[in-house]
Amino acid sequence: MVDMGLITGAVTTLKTAVDIASSLKEINDLTVMRNKVIEMQNLIMSAQGTAVAAQSQMLQMVHEIAELKAQVAKVEEWKATSERYHLVDYGGNTLAYELTEKAANGEPIHRLCPVCFEQRRRSILQFRFKTNAGQQKYACVPCDREFDFGHRQSSSAPAHRTISQGGW
Ligand SMILES: [Zn+2]
Repeated sequence: MVDMGLITGAVTTLKTAVDIASSLKEINDLTVMRNKVIEMQNLIMSAQGTAVAAQSQMLQMVHEIAELKAQVAKVEEWKATSERYHLVDYGGNTLAYELTEKAANGEPIHRLCPVCFEQRRRSILQFRFKTNAGQQKYACVPCDREFDFGHRQSSSAPAHRTISQGGW
């Protein structure tokens, strides 16, 4: 934020310098006149220093505004991405974000890593295999995590499991 006191101070200083300049014509003493000129020069230099400080503050502000704009753009971009997904329970409280069909735009339905999602990162989970407990194991490559989805089935009750190709 530009300090308005700096600008006001510079204006006041310059006004004093102008007052001294207009009083010069009434001064006949060369020494007094020389001192007044020096005083005027000092005031102008001081005002110039203040103007430079204000300009530097303004440049910093321009930089901060650019950074904030970039942050806002990132937030808006993530909002648009995240709105395409919804949280799904695949059974037994095993959750992941899944692409909403209406927002698929031709993409195949896929799951996103819930950990990366909370960090505003879209990371598609890759299916690995079906576990002995009948769960589907997925992996997130960026965060190096694995997730088991679905109800955990005890091996003593295999009849409960639907038989599918590629099953264990
Ligand atoms: Zn992840």
